[in-house]
Amino acid sequence: MEESAGMSLPPVARAEIVVDLAAIRHNVAVLRELVSTDEAGTGVAMMTVVKADGYGHGMVEAAGAARAGGADWLGVATIDEALALRAGGDSGRVLCWLGVPGEDYAAAVAADVDLTAYSTAELDEIAVGAEQAGRPARLQLKVDTGLSRGGAPEEAWPGVVAAARAGEQAGHWRVTGIWSHFACSDEPDHPANDVQERAFRDALDVADAAGLRPEVRHLANSAAAILRPSSRFDLVRCGLASYGLDPAPGHTRDLGLVPAMTVRASLAMVKSIATGAGVSYGHTWVADHDTTVGLVPVGYGDGVPRHAGNAAETWVAGRRRPVRGRICMDQFLVDLSGDSSGDPAAAGDEVVLFGTGRAGEPTAQDWAEACGTISYEIVTRIGGRFTRRHHDGGDPA
Ligand SMILES: *Cc1c(COP(=O)(O)O)cnc(C)c1O
Repeated sequence: MEESAGMSLPPVARAEIVVDLAAIRHNVAVLRELVSTDEAGTGVAMMTVVKADGYGHGMVEAAGAARAGGADWLGVATIDEALALRAGGDSGRVLCWLGVPGEDYAAAVAADVDLTAYSTAELDEIAVGAEQAGRPARLQLKVDTGLSRGGAPEEAWPGVVAAARAGEQAGHWRVTGIWSHFACSDEPDHPANDVQERAFRDALDVADAAGLRPEVRHLANSAAAILRPSSRFDLVRCGLASYGLDPAPGHTRDLGLVPAMTVRASLAMVKSIATGAGVSYGHTWVADHDTTVGLVPVGYGDGVPRHAGNAAETWVAGRRRPVRGRICMDQFLVDLSGDSSGDPAAAGDEVVLFGTGRAGEPTAQDWAEACGTISYEIVTRIGGRFTRRHHDGGDPA
């Protein structure tokens, strides 16, 4: 019998995303141990970032696994995500960081969510929200140290800090954190990392001089948490690595992280094609030998990148099987040739797009490289008509 990447899983569903919550729990515990014991890392807390539906893994379920693995904080982009965590039963610390004018800050304050402000305009809105909620907000301030994305520009920082201190004294909020975000943490030797860390320390000095005493100062995402101990401060914000994927391919040593997501389907059809047959739209692949192709019933409508055409590989009957021709909206084809013992697979057999890699199947990182993107995008975009199932595979050895 052929070894299957999905061997321990139930019979093949039409097309499903299977998420191993034990892997997330394990990864969070490994990362927490790493950042709190390495070098000067005493007392570093762990935030697991579960935005964008837990990077495609299911936000509430991923959050539960992260808490079980020791996450002190959860991080999300939007207030809606934070409220969904509360609705899902999470009562721990949750930070969100991407508001737009007119957000329902009162609801976020009432739900005990830590908010992030980038500007005095945002502070004004949060003050109104806190008043409506009838209690002080928990407020963090973000400074732009060089990503040029969100956060207060350095020239506006003293004004934001002064307004935050005044609002604290007026009882609108307590300033719980000050933070920033790296541009190039996946390139540890990039000079921007030093520049940003220095700018962050300067920004902290400005806040300190104004009388702010935040609980947590934080700068590092996954790559920086792993590769740059000096950037850990009081808290690290780990997203991708929590799901078992490598945030800085080529730089990260093996930490024993386990990819939590396996994406698989049932082959819809298996057929022989003759030398010279063109495969899929545009005939971008033409069979150069008599072969057998398998029809995979998912496509770009389900988040399978169209760039995977003629580039990515799948796993069927114990072997890597290349994608042939273009990815269509609902389906694509893989080449099942190469077995001496006749057709290696039949309709209804399992095809794994990507998984842990343990049995030899491709990983999300392999798909990212094949598609010219990053594994973040591969796991976050997969969805569409795939069903998603969570299981607990037990703690990885
Ligand atoms: C998404 C995000 C993170 C997590 O980044 P990873 O590289 O996935 O660890 C951390 N901080 C902020 C502000 C983010 O937007």
